[in-house]
Amino acid sequence: MAREGQILIRLENITKEFNGTIAVHNLNLEIWEGEFLCFLGPSGCGKTTTLRMIAGLERPTRGEIYLRGQRITDWPPQRRNIGFMFQNYALFNHMSVYENLAFGLWVRRVPREEIERRVRSVAQALELEPVLHLRASRLDLSTMQRVALARILVIEPQVLLLDEPLNNFRPGLRELMRAELKRWQYQFGRTMVYVTHDQEEAMTLGDRIVIMNAGHIEQVGTPDEVYQRPATLFVASFIGRPSMNLLPVEYRISEGRAFLVSPDFEIPVDDRREIIEKSHSLPNLILGVRPEQLRIHDPQESSPPDLIRIPAQVDLVRPQGRKLILDVKTRSGTLLQMVVPSIRRFVAGEQLEIAFYPHQTLLFDPQTGKGLC
Ligand code: ATP
Repeated sequence: MAREGQILIRLENITKEFNGTIAVHNLNLEIWEGEFLCFLGPSGCGKTTTLRMIAGLERPTRGEIYLRGQRITDWPPQRRNIGFMFQNYALFNHMSVYENLAFGLWVRRVPREEIERRVRSVAQALELEPVLHLRASRLDLSTMQRVALARILVIEPQVLLLDEPLNNFRPGLRELMRAELKRWQYQFGRTMVYVTHDQEEAMTLGDRIVIMNAGHIEQVGTPDEVYQRPATLFVASFIGRPSMNLLPVEYRISEGRAFLVSPDFEIPVDDRREIIEKSHSLPNLILGVRPEQLRIHDPQESSPPDLIRIPAQVDLVRPQGRKLILDVKTRSGTLLQMVVPSIRRFVAGEQLEIAFYPHQTLLFDPQTGKGLC
């Protein structure tokens, strides 16, 4: 993957309105040469509209789009040399696979020998040679996907845009096709921009993920960054299953030391004091704890001094194979979700002590929704 500096596409202050509805709001983004970039977000957040603007199928209401530094905002799709793969593949069913692959080159008036060369070369790479003579209507779904991709690759686009291409697949096949896509990206080294509402898909495929919500970008980062350091409360609750526990806490100073206080625990935060005190929401903050960072603590065992321990009661047990999700209720009635190894049985009503380390928690400002530290 390319590093920052090798920018292929730049979106600058892009806004798109449809009859007064703002679908995309003041979006700024760089797409790097050779990367697999995933757009992730709930339905209606503006992913497809952004992709369509990159392709030239929609014109931004405001803002500019640059391709390798050149302003292309007004360029028609065919001038951009950008491949677009739709959800339904839109193959020509009455044509053979060969004709489907060659079609985009015929309309671009590419010489016959060059068409033959490109079609054969991509068909070989995607193992489509045995089906070149078949009608597209006779193909199975996974072959159709390869034909749809091959049809774009023969045009030799600078970037491939894919809009939920795996939506029509049943779960097992979907994972298989996902792995194929990733392999092709390595093989062809092309920049891919991929839209999905499935976080698992974005986390497995993306070199970087753009997380969108209500027409805005919430965060752009590697899968690790958006998981470990969510920039906003939205990202914190959207990424990760089960989602992060978000607990209201109050910031207090006692005998010169800084604490976050909830009805169930108190954690010292002297090390984060400077950042916390910049928040305009004080004293109210939100503490984020991932379910996998909550652990069961044996009260008979000694514990490190910084471990925060909370008495709780098992509310619900959800087995997940080698792990299980436990919903536990604290004495104050707060419900927390935790993920623990299935090494023993748990029953609803059972009393436990749960624990976490303060340095593994994240803090958010409830007014701005932004992550603090
Ligand atoms: P989905 O995953 O459901 O496709 P999305 O994140 O891709 O959602 P968009 O399709 O980009 O979202 O839509 C963003 C907003 O813009 C939605 O409110 C949608 O109704 C609106 N919208 C999109 N296209 C049009 C259009 N042609 N005319 C009017 N409104 C539109």
